[in-house]
Formats: sequence, C-alpha cells, structure tokens
Amino acid sequence: MKMFGTNGIRGIANDYLSCELALGIGRCVGRVLGRRIAVATDPRVSSDMIKSALTAGLVSVGADVLDIGMVPTPALQNYIRSRPEITGGVMITASHNPPEFNGIKCISADGTECSPEEEHAIEEMYESGTECVPWNEIGRVVKVAGADDEYIDAVVSRVDSDSIRRAGLTVCVDCANGASCHTTPELMRRLGVRAITLNGNPQGEFPGHPSEPTEDNLEALKKMVVDTGADLGIAHDGDADRCVFVTNDGRYVSGDVSLALLAGYILRKRHGGRVVVTVATSSIVEDVARSAGGEVEYTAVGSPIVARAMRSDGGVFGGEENGGLIFADHQYCRDGAMGAAMMLECIAGQGPLGEQIDAMPRYRTVKAAIRCPDELKERLIGSVSSAHSGERCNLTDGLRIDYDDGWVLLRPSGTEPKFRIYSESKDPAVAERRSAEFVSEAEGILERLS
Ligand code: MG
Repeated sequence: MKMFGTNGIRGIANDYLSCELALGIGRCVGRVLGRRIAVATDPRVSSDMIKSALTAGLVSVGADVLDIGMVPTPALQNYIRSRPEITGGVMITASHNPPEFNGIKCISADGTECSPEEEHAIEEMYESGTECVPWNEIGRVVKVAGADDEYIDAVVSRVDSDSIRRAGLTVCVDCANGASCHTTPELMRRLGVRAITLNGNPQGEFPGHPSEPTEDNLEALKKMVVDTGADLGIAHDGDADRCVFVTNDGRYVSGDVSLALLAGYILRKRHGGRVVVTVATSSIVEDVARSAGGEVEYTAVGSPIVARAMRSDGGVFGGEENGGLIFADHQYCRDGAMGAAMMLECIAGQGPLGEQIDAMPRYRTVKAAIRCPDELKERLIGSVSSAHSGERCNLTDGLRIDYDDGWVLLRPSGTEPKFRIYSESKDPAVAERRSAEFVSEAEGILERLS
C-alpha cells in the first residue's frame, strides 16, 4: 500500500490521518528507523494530537522519543544531523496545505528526508503489522528545549553576519502563523536586522493566510514592505522549509528568480561550482550560473531528489522554483531561514534587491494544465515523445524538449488527474505559441486514446 507521497503522508486530521494511523506508523518508524527518534511539529490544531499518537507507537516498540517541540522542519533536521546517537526523526506538518490537513514526514539519521526505500519498508511493515515490546522495554519520552536556538546558531555561523549587521537592514517577515514564528524573527535579531513581523503568532489562527507563499497570498506583506520602507520582505510556508521574497519596492520575486540570484551570488563567491535544480526550473538559473562560472545539473522534480544529487555529485547549491533552497555547506535539505539569511548577505554585499532583479535576464514561462485520466498519463508521454523523436528530448521527469529559443515540459501531476505543460522562452510570443501548440497536440492525442 502506497502511503508516502512526495512530502510524506498527508491527509485530513481525524479523517484519513487518524490517531490510529499515526499510532501504527509510529510503531513501524520505531522498528525501521531505530531506537532514538526526535519528533517535532508545526503549530496546527491537530499537530499535538498526531504527535501524541505517533509517540505512543514509537515507545510501544521500545524506541526513545526526544520531543523538541514546535520548530521549523529544517530545525528538526539540523538537530538530528548534528547528533550521531539519534537514529531518525518525524516531523508532524502538512507544510502549505490548508488547516484541516496534517502530515507525517520521516527523517533519516543524517537529517535528510527518508529515502523511498526507507518509506517503502515502513509501508510494508504497516501492512504486515509489528509486535509491541514487553512492559519493561517500553521507550522513554523526553522533552528537549533549545533545538530552535541551536538551529539559529547554525544558520548565523554560515553567513557573513558582520557584513549583514553593518548594512543596517530592515525586513518585514510573514510567518503565516507557522513554525517560523520564533526562529526567523530571532534570527533577524541575531543578525542585527530590524524585523517587523506579520502573522507571527503560532497560537493564532493557522495559517493567517493560505500558507502557500504565492504572490496572491502575500499582498499584505508587499504593502507592508512599501509602507515601512523596508529593504526586504521574507515569507515562509507553514513549516518554514521554504522562503520567498519581496523587493524593497514591493515586488514579489518568483522562486525561479530568487534561486537564480542566490545561485549567481554563491558561485561568484566560490569561483564556480555546480548548481542542482529540477527540469521544471526556468533557464534563468542556467543563464546566471554559467555567467558566474558555474554549471547546472537537472534532476526529476522533488526536493529530496535535488538534495541527493547535490550530495552525490558535489553540488554547492540547489533548489526548486517554489522557494525551496538547499545549501550544501549547511545541510542537504530545504531551509527557509538559511535562504533568508543568505539573501540578506547578498543584499548587504550587492545592493538593493529591486536593482539586482532588474539587472537579471527575463524569461516568460507559460504554465498550462489539461485534464488527463491517470491511466492515460504514460501513454500520452509516449505518444508525444515519439512524435518529437528527432528533437532534443529529455525524459528525466515527464518529457522536456529543448529548443534554441526555449523549452517545453510535459509532466503528469503526481496527485491529480492532470497533465501540466510548461513553456518558456525569452520571447513571450514564442512561449505562448509553443504552449498553445503542445496543449492542442496533447488534447488531440488524448481524444484518440480515450
Ligand atoms: Mg514546507
């Protein structure tokens, strides 16, 4: 039975994601990931309930539980990674999903997200069941304080905090009433940055606003940056593994552009290196990375896939176009606070974000989606790729075709009966035309197949 999706197990609390399920998964995690498990949550209403059930499962098979409280996902990962005696971890969060959802995300001993093999082992054991230990072997639960401060220390140590402090910056931080409510404002204080917070109450209504950090959801932040004359706006999703930015003049910066900007900054600082992104990422990253003396590697979509490729192939920086940023010097996972700190260093060193963005190349990306039944997804990819067999096709994830003046990506949605079609070019007319052509080609094939 497949339970883990791209971001762990997700579902509506007390519906699919019940206490019974959390208890059973806790038992299997205790068996598969070992005997010392760190557990943390985001501030959702259901998080303590799911954590209690999961913890009961863990101790019932003899695992000891370290409860580090309400912290961002990367703070839990930092805690696990820096302690060899901890054998794994679980984060209770549904990231950017609406408040009725929650999720269980499993972490390996090295702090990275669990591999598909580990997740599969947990699923298999859930199916077959596992025995509890006798009463005198039941595990202990210890509440641990300070994981948030340790995390902030780790982030501060990886940026040029003196130069950030000297720049005398002011930022507006939108925590979406999520897991970053304590950590990111405190990080700003530690870096000598004046922070004005918005939706910074973890006991408040989660998530303050829909917690996917898209432009539509950040109108209040954009206005606040302009009204206060701040140098930067920072927004996190619910569990703060991601961050997106607003310029000093109140413009939302798309995730592709911030990924490219930081890639260029890091590569120039290091005199080159490898950046790892997914096939769905804008060419702006490759443009900027090449001119900074670096190279780009493309992977399938999914931040654990990017993180694993960075580690095995020596990538210095990587990420996704949704605000997920991964810094090899820090840890091999998305890290919202680290992204914010590096952006501050970049502004302290290179000037106002609005000016930096204006100096970057511009691309037009058209994102379309068509309805496609799950059972036809593979055949659709097959038909389109054979129709374009003489062209520069790449089947890393879906079908990407590169042209001299842009690319298209056709990719089945992993969660919905949909097919996504992205088209990008520096010339907006080319991007639009190619999008329309591939949408009608795919719809024509679907009609013939069904
Ligand atoms: Mg998240």
